Amino acid sequence: MSRRNGLIICISGPSGAGKGTVLGLVRDMFPGMGTSISVTTRQPRGTEQEGVEYFFRTKDEFEQMIADGEILEYDTYVGNYYGTPAAYLRRLSSEGTDCMLDLTVAGSIALKKIFGRDALTIFLMPPSLEVLEERLRGRGTETEDKIRSRLSQAEAEMKRVDEFDYTVVNDDLDRAVEEVRNLILKKQEENS
Ligand code: 5GP
Repeated sequence: MSRRNGLIICISGPSGAGKGTVLGLVRDMFPGMGTSISVTTRQPRGTEQEGVEYFFRTKDEFEQMIADGEILEYDTYVGNYYGTPAAYLRRLSSEGTDCMLDLTVAGSIALKKIFGRDALTIFLMPPSLEVLEERLRGRGTETEDKIRSRLSQAEAEMKRVDEFDYTVVNDDLDRAVEEVRNLILKKQEENS
């Protein structure tokens, strides 16, 4: 059994920066890696299912969870709440299971404050705002309004990149995946 706490690996970066793709590929490289399912007040998209991609809750239910101390950190993003359930992540960490999370910038910074040296924060940077806009439009899942909100959130988030442990530019998928993998391996070694 591992004698160190599980790492809380927090990945942030603008929506459309390829975060989901990078995370999926990195996760495949670490078969024992845990994951945290967030709570959100946004509506399920496409084939998303309760308890798989997210726990979908109403605003009132979400606010009750905050009041009850069940949420470790939360943020609002494009008009909805997103939060990390406390009990599950704390348990994984104390059991020594590393866990990878996809969070807003504020979320990663909040978990770094809570977990300190057990946390690793990585900012996944798109090559440029133009490329980001193209990728967002290419997804074809959002309205123009939502795309504009996501872009302005992206600009604001990119200003906080210095608060992260590392930045990885996602101009080449394979290279970005390799870089994230190496940062995780290095941190696992540092903490053991
Ligand atoms: P989406 O609506 O595209 O699934 O997610 C929108 C954003 O919410 C993503 O950029 C993701 O990083 C962020 N997010 C998802 N879950 C959480 C969470 O538990 N906490 C925070 N702070 N952000 C989250």
